[in-house]
Amino acid sequence: MQAIDIKPGELPPECEALRQEVRAFIAEHLADYPAARRARNWSGNDPEFSRKMAGKGWIGMTWPKRYGGGERSPLERYVVLEELLAAGAPVGAHWVADRQSGPLLMRFSPDVLAPRIVPKIVRGEAFFCIGMSEPDSGSDLASIRTKATKTEKGWLINGRKVWTSGAHRTHYMIALVRTGERGENRHAGMSQFLIDMKTPGLTIRPIISQIGEHDFNEVTFDDVLVPHENLIGTEGEGWQQVTTELAFERSGPERYLSSTQLLLEMLDVADADDPRHAVALGRIAAHYATLRQMSLGVSAMLARGESPALAAAAVKDQGALVEQAMPDIAHDLFGGRVDPDSPLAQVMQYTAMAVPSFSLRGGTREILRGILARGLGLR
Ligand SMILES: Cc1cc2nc3c(=O)[nH]c(=O)nc-3n(C[C@H](O)[C@H](O)[C@H](O)COP(=O)(O)OP(=O)(O)OC[C@H]3O[C@@H](n4cnc5c(N)ncnc54)[C@H](O)[C@@H]3O)c2cc1C
Repeated sequence: MQAIDIKPGELPPECEALRQEVRAFIAEHLADYPAARRARNWSGNDPEFSRKMAGKGWIGMTWPKRYGGGERSPLERYVVLEELLAAGAPVGAHWVADRQSGPLLMRFSPDVLAPRIVPKIVRGEAFFCIGMSEPDSGSDLASIRTKATKTEKGWLINGRKVWTSGAHRTHYMIALVRTGERGENRHAGMSQFLIDMKTPGLTIRPIISQIGEHDFNEVTFDDVLVPHENLIGTEGEGWQQVTTELAFERSGPERYLSSTQLLLEMLDVADADDPRHAVALGRIAAHYATLRQMSLGVSAMLARGESPALAAAAVKDQGALVEQAMPDIAHDLFGGRVDPDSPLAQVMQYTAMAVPSFSLRGGTREILRGILARGLGLR
């Protein structure tokens, strides 16, 4: 059996000064930000906050200067993300663009789309959504049916995407669609497109989540005409490209730092002399410490130009397990004994409703474990 080689990562000393700068920024801009909002973590959406971050150079931090990026190291970016996530800062508006859409455009359309779009991402002026899942295609993404047909005027897109987070408040979608037949190879005949969300024929309908919030959408395409130049990369190579995009999507510290506010609220009210509290919270802290080393290891792999796909799947899978256990732990330790209006009760309630989605979004637990099994040579 092969092993997943994750070397524990370490942050260089110069990252400490940057950490203090991020903390000062958070203290200045989020001093009165309530715990119940912080619990939303990277789902929290505030374009104004995103623009303030852009002003600090913290969007596109590692990207080339020619696209407006900061050419800083992935480990410096890690420190910024870690502090923002630990504080529950509302980073959702630019998150997808910074994490995956920008890198994808620079990699697969470096001379056409990236020079036009990426500087806008860096300035906090272009937000993105992900058009992968369809009503009958989630885990089995290769079975998508939304189709683009080449015409003289551009590509004509018809079909339907679902679970599109933030489609109603973003400027662009990167969509995976069918441009050819599947044939023998079920991964053939797919391509990626940059789609302006204001294009005629594109309709966005809300889907309300079990939390009662509007984040998801259904997006339908009725003869949506997209310019030829909006084809990203190579026609028919969408599958290889989307696999790269998914590695970006799964590799960040947000995959174990989405429920941090609940841990902080528990620590606030915990009794240091109660061994049940000490054991349960100590165990979470130990899991966090291990996940942090693994996640830093993934960032170090990115810094060395290696592919972190397997290591990222391991961090996401284990991170979701720890985060999903937290509401039950909170309930066991404090349930029935907290004021329902207290920050702990509010954060507990939100987190309990949110965590089931953590092992669905970005690839389900079963799919990630399938990837891990293949990577380990077990299937
Ligand atoms: C919070 C959240 C945000 C999301 N945002 C977006 C977004 O912005 N854009 C987007 O495109 N999608 C988004 N999604 C959709 C997400 O990617 C899909 O929900 C996910 O890929 C699973 O697809 P599905 O829901 O169709 O479930 P299915 O694929 O139908 O799976 C149902 C169950 O069957 C299991 N299963 C399926 N196939 C196998 C198999 N081969 N072996 C073992 N078990 C299997 C799954 O693990 C799962 O438990 C989001 C989802 C969530 C929860």
